[in-house]
Amino acid sequence: MITKIIKMDFSRPPEEQVRDCADIIKRGGLVAFPTETVYGLGGNALDSEAAKKIYAAKGRPSDNPLIIHIAAPEDAEAYCKTNEAYYKIAKAFMPGPITVILPKKDIVPFSVTGGLDTVAVRCPKNPVARALISEAGVPIAAPSANTSGRPSPTSARHVIEDLNSKIDAVIDGGDSEIGLESTIVLPGNGGVKVLRPGGITVEMLREVFEDVSLDGGITEKNESTTAPLAPGMKYRHYAPSATVFLIKDSGRADFDERVKKFLSGKLDREPRTGIICFDEYKKDIIGKNVFYFGKKADDEEHAKRLFDILRRFDDTDAPEIYATASDLKGVGLAIYNRMLKASGFNIIEI
Ligand code: AMP
Ligand code: MG
Repeated sequence: MITKIIKMDFSRPPEEQVRDCADIIKRGGLVAFPTETVYGLGGNALDSEAAKKIYAAKGRPSDNPLIIHIAAPEDAEAYCKTNEAYYKIAKAFMPGPITVILPKKDIVPFSVTGGLDTVAVRCPKNPVARALISEAGVPIAAPSANTSGRPSPTSARHVIEDLNSKIDAVIDGGDSEIGLESTIVLPGNGGVKVLRPGGITVEMLREVFEDVSLDGGITEKNESTTAPLAPGMKYRHYAPSATVFLIKDSGRADFDERVKKFLSGKLDREPRTGIICFDEYKKDIIGKNVFYFGKKADDEEHAKRLFDILRRFDDTDAPEIYATASDLKGVGLAIYNRMLKASGFNIIEI
């Protein structure tokens, strides 16, 4: 199959430009498209065959459910049993980078929900994504448009790296604005539980709900034998081929000095050492496989660049990768969570 690449012209309305792709979706094909979080691999969410194609193209385990994307929050009524919490979330954060888990209606095939009787719904903000869903006239099931296990794609180039010739088309709408997948929440008992942190932060949710809890798997390895609440979170993810070590911020005043000393020592012994660190380290930490991912306090920049950097390591000869993590506030929690997964929970405290 030849994968068509459709480059968006932002001086023209998106609707007419995505029409052919909407037809592909209606006919049961697959189209990768930009959203504000990461690129999604879309298929008709009401068509089991399309869902199967999504799993096959990604090499995704079939028990890892898909998120269905809708054009307007109230469209959820047709596919799931909504509740008060859903509308509170919709009013505060939709369209936007948040996904809500709700009991599914029969019209949604089990192949989309990984066999669960709940379904994940999201109403994206990106105008290209919105135009595609509206033109298709069906909800679009879309996981991230990467090969399972690799970092999520934040550009059309990343999608092509993984899925060229496996899908019908990719819409190139430029780099993802946020760069990390959506926040996933499970409503219950008047509050919400965060299953995956993302662009809608815990702090933002606390402004709407008194009771916001965090799933233990966000910052700790899930050792239990019970099924995790968000099945996808059990898999090792976002991982380059080299082993990744995550350097956790100890909060000590001399943390940065100690980390720089540690990293310099690594580079002295092995100049190919891979490093992801803050812009503030530029003067002291220099090497062929060193990437800087923004100022220490600039979470949003880290979020935008993390997945691209993780992917670029696969073109380097770095035998090991050391990454610095910022604090867990705001979007920092989501970045820390993705870095933990990329490192397979290899944490170093310095
Ligand atoms: P992705 O689209 O690749 O970002 O992955 C979607 C993720 O959403 C899955 O890996 C799950 O962790 C989560 N998810 C989707 N549907 C459900 C559901 N019904 N219940 C709980 N988590 C879900
Ligand atoms: Mg994914």
